[in-house]
Amino acid sequence: MEPRLVKGDGSPEASLELTMPEMRSMCDDAMRRVMDHLGSIGQQHARGDVTHEDAVSLCRSMREGAPETGSPLAPLLDAYFGEWLPHTLTTNGPGYMAYVPGGGIFPAAIADFVSDTTNRFTGAWFASPPLVQLEANVLDWLRAWMGFPPETRGVFTTGGSTATFNGIVCAREKLLGPDIRRGVLYTSTQAHHSVKKSARLAGIADDRIRALPVDERFRMRIDALESAIAEDRRAGLVPFLVVSAAGTTNTGAVDPLDTVADVCARERMWHHVDGAYGAFFHACEELRPLLAGLSRADSLTLDPHKGLFLPYGTGALLVRDGAALRAVHAASADYLPGGTPPDMYDPSEHGPDLSRGFPGLRVWLTVKIFGAARLRAAIAEKRILAVEAAARIARIPGVVMVALPQLSLFAFHVTWPGASREDENTATRAVLERVGARGRVLLSGCNVAGRELARVCVLSFRTRSANIDACVEDVAAAVAEVSRR
Ligand SMILES: *Cc1c(COP(=O)(O)O)cnc(C)c1O
Repeated sequence: MEPRLVKGDGSPEASLELTMPEMRSMCDDAMRRVMDHLGSIGQQHARGDVTHEDAVSLCRSMREGAPETGSPLAPLLDAYFGEWLPHTLTTNGPGYMAYVPGGGIFPAAIADFVSDTTNRFTGAWFASPPLVQLEANVLDWLRAWMGFPPETRGVFTTGGSTATFNGIVCAREKLLGPDIRRGVLYTSTQAHHSVKKSARLAGIADDRIRALPVDERFRMRIDALESAIAEDRRAGLVPFLVVSAAGTTNTGAVDPLDTVADVCARERMWHHVDGAYGAFFHACEELRPLLAGLSRADSLTLDPHKGLFLPYGTGALLVRDGAALRAVHAASADYLPGGTPPDMYDPSEHGPDLSRGFPGLRVWLTVKIFGAARLRAAIAEKRILAVEAAARIARIPGVVMVALPQLSLFAFHVTWPGASREDENTATRAVLERVGARGRVLLSGCNVAGRELARVCVLSFRTRSANIDACVEDVAAAVAEVSRR
């Protein structure tokens, strides 16, 4: 049966346009709540109330079908801010030193509002030339900060994982072509799990991934890399890619990037650096020696939503041989005009998306509003705060520092005379739990070779020295409590 035809403009329900006063009032309402939220961010519980059973029953109680009729905005925002947000980790708070923080810097939200409402198409150059140029400018700023050459091309991604995925595909296409199955990828046991996942998505099966052992500072062992490559060559396989880390998530270790670059040059392999956590420290000239060799990589994962403090949803990939990135993604369609001038950047020819948001604008506006110098000062300060926190926590009786900050992340565990590994693991987990329950600071842990570690990662732009004081005090109190039992 034919659907009943409604005369054009006949039915008010068919219009989704809001009036100017309606839109203004929605903005005011949202803005007031955001300001209340941000105004009290320093007093909010750093962990939030995320008890597992409560979260499960809350989520079950929330399940509902799509509403048939609409609702005003106010009660929906009431629920978001009042009922749901308190049951989430306070990832934008100053006490958030768990995992790898970022913060969610404010100008990016303005950029999103502007780009979402103007809704320009930035997937291809022809539709929004000057806006795409802004994105090209930002990618070029990232390139310069990372010390990559002018022929580098990049693409904004949804995060570090997808950037690494694209980097692996570039290496695979360039060095393996269609003969994927013999290719072998090398990384360390400390690599982020997204490396293995990205490899699998890129057609590199688990049995072609070598997770190499690390040294006493959790960095990839070059002797192990060289012998694994030699062994695979003897077996008739094709070593093609090393994925090293500019700061691991577990302990913040920076692999010997310069030496890996030497090995890759000699072996004619691709070097991808996972800088999702650490790459932005390279923007600070005085910190570049900590990441020596990063600028020699063939490709680099960056996460502006970590080291540049942006809201979640912004990763980036840089590829030194820009033509290799383009070769993987360039495609044309009969209905697209094509003919982009050769010196113009076309996002859809450098990444998998066609229609997409406008990630460049949030980064562009943030850098324009603050200026690069101020952002660098914030990045450098996070390292200073971490170094200071590590020195103070190392002096707490019962703390064994396992990884000093190479960038802004360090890890430790708890001990006392006669404690077994099991005791230490239990106590270290208990310290994390107590610090989290106190609510001023949130830390997270990791397990490295059977040993539980507590880790402190300072990377939120909101974390300042008062929060470091709180962190040191709360760790000291928790360590004293757990080792007094
Ligand atoms: C966070 C992180 C990733 C993953 O990045 P996403 O943006 O979460 O996808 C990869 N590697 C390292 C070292 C990270 O810290």
